[in-house]
Amino acid sequence: MTTRLPKLVAFDLDYTLWGLWIDSDIQGPLHRDKNTINQVLDKHNEPISFYKHVPQILHRLRTAEVAIAAASRTSAPKLAHSALTLLLLPASNAGDNGTMKAIDFFDQLEIYPGSKITHFRKIHQKTGIPYSEMLFFDDEHRNKEVEGLGVTFCLVRDGVDDRTFEKGLAEWRKRHPEEVTEDIGSAS
Ligand SMILES: [Mg+2]
Repeated sequence: MTTRLPKLVAFDLDYTLWGLWIDSDIQGPLHRDKNTINQVLDKHNEPISFYKHVPQILHRLRTAEVAIAAASRTSAPKLAHSALTLLLLPASNAGDNGTMKAIDFFDQLEIYPGSKITHFRKIHQKTGIPYSEMLFFDDEHRNKEVEGLGVTFCLVRDGVDDRTFEKGLAEWRKRHPEEVTEDIGSAS
């Protein structure tokens, strides 16, 4: 049996995909040392990297054709955008040499201050995907307010990792059980 997935998975940025505050812990301009995978440096060579399980999680979603969104209320959207553009990830999980820009994994980017209800309304308007088909990972409890729209919220403790990701998927599946059609006529 294949594992059922929501149509869209959204991630917050700070302390969800990377372990820093993009608007206060780092300073632009950002740069990258050659083609270093999963590391961008700021003005003072402070590194910015996704948590270690993030690349494979993004690959898994992409392979399954699940839409991926970033929903951040940072007050430094340009810096966040720059980090996502410069960050390189392996182009596949197969271990070959290709790379891919982190930003190219994301189908939707909603990065600006304010209530994340706005971010999700925008994602819904742009994609047409129902809120019930959206799963959201975020480290701040206050953003759970998006559940008012019907989005499934999963609180992240120490950045997104495989365990948290599975926990979110399990919660989404529990809330949206598959409709089972009973085959009444088949008994003989
Ligand atoms: Mg955060």
